[in-house]
Amino acid sequence: MKSTEIREAFLKFYESKGHQRVASSSLVPGNDPTLLFTNAGMVQFKDVFLGQESRPYKTATSSQRCVRAGGKHNDLENVGYTARHHTFFEMLGNFSFGDYFKREAIKYAWEFLTEVLQLPEEKLWVTVHISDQEAEDIWLKEMGVSAERFSRLDEDNFWQMGDTGPCGPSSEIFYDHGEDVFGGPPGSPNDDGDRYIEIWNLVFMQYERSASGQAELPNPSIDTGMGLERIAAIMQGVHTNYEIDMFQALLQAVAKETGATDMEDKSLRVVADHIRSCAFLIVDGILPGNEGRAYVLRRIMRRAIRHGNKLGASSAFFYKLVATLVKEMGDAYPELVEQQAQIEKIILAEEQQFAKTLENGMAILNAAIDDLQDNVLPGDVVFKLYDTYGFPVDLTNDIARERELVLDMEGYELAMQAQRQRSKGAGSFELDYNQSFKMEGSTEFTGHTDSTAEAKVVALLVE
Ligand code: ATP
Ligand code: MG
Ligand code: MG
Ligand code: MG
Repeated sequence: MKSTEIREAFLKFYESKGHQRVASSSLVPGNDPTLLFTNAGMVQFKDVFLGQESRPYKTATSSQRCVRAGGKHNDLENVGYTARHHTFFEMLGNFSFGDYFKREAIKYAWEFLTEVLQLPEEKLWVTVHISDQEAEDIWLKEMGVSAERFSRLDEDNFWQMGDTGPCGPSSEIFYDHGEDVFGGPPGSPNDDGDRYIEIWNLVFMQYERSASGQAELPNPSIDTGMGLERIAAIMQGVHTNYEIDMFQALLQAVAKETGATDMEDKSLRVVADHIRSCAFLIVDGILPGNEGRAYVLRRIMRRAIRHGNKLGASSAFFYKLVATLVKEMGDAYPELVEQQAQIEKIILAEEQQFAKTLENGMAILNAAIDDLQDNVLPGDVVFKLYDTYGFPVDLTNDIARERELVLDMEGYELAMQAQRQRSKGAGSFELDYNQSFKMEGSTEFTGHTDSTAEAKVVALLVE
């Protein structure tokens, strides 16, 4: 089954159960400055769940474009390393606003997987929240799921959109890709491997989290999300998302435009992933820049450009991938077709700008790495790359990780402070280094100069 056929089969299935088909909303959440990007299908319905907005329907279905590249759900660092994570992906979902609850949500999902898609039950594993006896009974007694492929988990089965907003216990459905792949079943020590891949999350929306605590929602509701690329991988008999139909033309185009010959190179996947998020963020009105959402876009673009460079591209290549993306996804997203020329122009401009410093920055970085006595890249190098060569810190970190190095973030912060002192002393304007970074295994650095309240919130969410 092609990806587009799966998307359509899903929406039709829920329409046949009385759901209203609702179009994907923008990647920029319309009414929520606390959220960096739309990271799930429920985002456009947030106020409906909270009882603050009403719609002419009580159940809905959608295929939502999502970006997870910052904030609570950030998969940027996973891209190229796991079989299942993208920065941009499509989430298929069904929603009940105070209409049906757990039983129907579970029944519908099981029917879709085992009857419409005809997946064998022995391949499907299920988890519920540790406290959820009701969901366990529905799965084991009513759906007949084997207790061997079922478990109760804690944090993994409590879903929240962000630090605030609607949330609730969840039930996750996994697919076993077979013993050739590393990874243990959900809840086991190796469950972050890629053998048992989570395909669908059913959230039993019951609470709202706010700064003051957790309260019951006016009506228990349902929010589900299934990654289109993950279910397509299963239906197409492949293991990773990058082997599905939607990615083939893109990967070929990346190889062609960069001159790469090794089709297994993970950089190919990173670039193919990143052109999707970059193009769709531009479609939704984001331009590369130095703050908040704009800076996230710039970071993704520069990572992609660096990976392309590594694959062998010696001149602008990234913008050329837009044409292939439009061919692949233009039918589902007409706005992509309409804005093709504009998207190309914006990406090309960023490529031209970064090209001026990328090569010199890489030379400096390589020289610094050659000089290393240990595996820690000094903070002043990280700062110089950032300050003079336009390398976002996570880009430097991406390169460091490939070479099994870590960044000295404390040293970076000190270099940044020294720079601030110097610019104050010189009486010049404050520079625009307003990002907040927190990277695993490193110290936190918080920048300055937020121009608006929203930028402040968003900057905090940029991890
Ligand atoms: P994982 O544990 O694999 O990171 P998740 O629990 O974070 O997934 P959810 O927040 O439950 O994911 O999102 C609902 C569904 O969306 C997932 O079951 C999965 O099919 C899909 N999905 C989530 N993150 C990604 C991603 N980065 N790329 C592609 N699909 C994703
Ligand atoms: Mg995740
Ligand atoms: Mg999960
Ligand atoms: Mg999940």
